[in-house]
Amino acid sequence: MRTTEYDISHPYKAQVLSNDRITPPDTDEVRHLVLSIPDATFNFVEGQSIGVLAPPSADFGNEHHLRLYSIASSRQGEDGNLAEISICVRRCFYIDDISGERHPGIASNYLCDAKPGSDLMITGPYGRQFQAPKDSTANLLMIGIGTGIAPFRAFMKHIYEERKEWQGKVRLFYGARTGMDLLYMNDQNDDLSLYYDQATFKAFEAISTRPHFDEPPDIERCLMDNALEVWEMIQDPKTYIYVSGLSSLERSLDRIMIALAGSEKEWNEIKKKLIAERRWATLFYD
Ligand SMILES: Cc1cc2nc3c(=O)[nH]c(=O)nc-3n(C[C@H](O)[C@H](O)[C@H](O)COP(=O)(O)OP(=O)(O)OC[C@H]3O[C@@H](n4cnc5c(N)ncnc54)[C@H](O)[C@@H]3O)c2cc1C
Repeated sequence: MRTTEYDISHPYKAQVLSNDRITPPDTDEVRHLVLSIPDATFNFVEGQSIGVLAPPSADFGNEHHLRLYSIASSRQGEDGNLAEISICVRRCFYIDDISGERHPGIASNYLCDAKPGSDLMITGPYGRQFQAPKDSTANLLMIGIGTGIAPFRAFMKHIYEERKEWQGKVRLFYGARTGMDLLYMNDQNDDLSLYYDQATFKAFEAISTRPHFDEPPDIERCLMDNALEVWEMIQDPKTYIYVSGLSSLERSLDRIMIALAGSEKEWNEIKKKLIAERRWATLFYD
């Protein structure tokens, strides 16, 4: 969906409560922002995103620069504060094809530079395709890279802290270039370690084999190393699969699933069935 198609007619005022870097200095900058949204009509569920209305670049003449960010908190709010949510934002840059100049991405830099105490305008929440099942015996297979971890952080908080009795298997396959880029699983912020002692939860880290060469995380190898369990889960009618992060992940995932299924035709059939049964949900972005 194009950003111009999102309804921004009911914006909310949000105040930045904190803005902390959650990756070390020598890695890509990713920040965890906690926002306070005092308007009680703002409600959301795990897996939804907010829109941030950043001031536009002078070159384009738009009124707003709208970009989406996944909510990283559960429906009970950040740390149980109903009026607060968190997001995690990677500071983006792009290279102009013609001039070769490096330009900062507008919304991500606006958010990464936002000072605690400052106000933002947000919209949404958007998207309902990424919801945890009501049945607590369901299995969750979560596959993500980079900031794609945000909705999974929300899921984990919801199922283990709010619903408490989760019985299905929960498996997280999560990739980053290095161990320190593994968001919410590194020295800067280790929220997900709260769930490591849950009998139903296991996390698998996929990091690049050559991190100094800017290589993508090796999520394919990580899934292949655990092929038996992954494939068993996919074939179990109680499993819900969620995939989140950069759109390049879609191709990686198709490659691995084709290998597991035995052929492209076979995988396409299985995927079609999973989608029809609402057990396959993706959230991709560039
Ligand atoms: C559902 C959803 C959830 C998302 N969740 C997250 C999240 O949790 N965390 C996160 O960090 N991101 C997330 N994103 C991505 C986020 O919305 C933004 O796309 C990202 O932050 C970049 O936005 P920006 O305004 O900083 O960059 P922009 O200014 O929009 O620039 C981004 C890209 O636009 C192109 N571009 C823009 N202007 C020009 C130009 N003048 N010339 C050439 N190319 C140009 C470039 O390709 C560049 O890479 C999500 C996206 C979606 C759709």
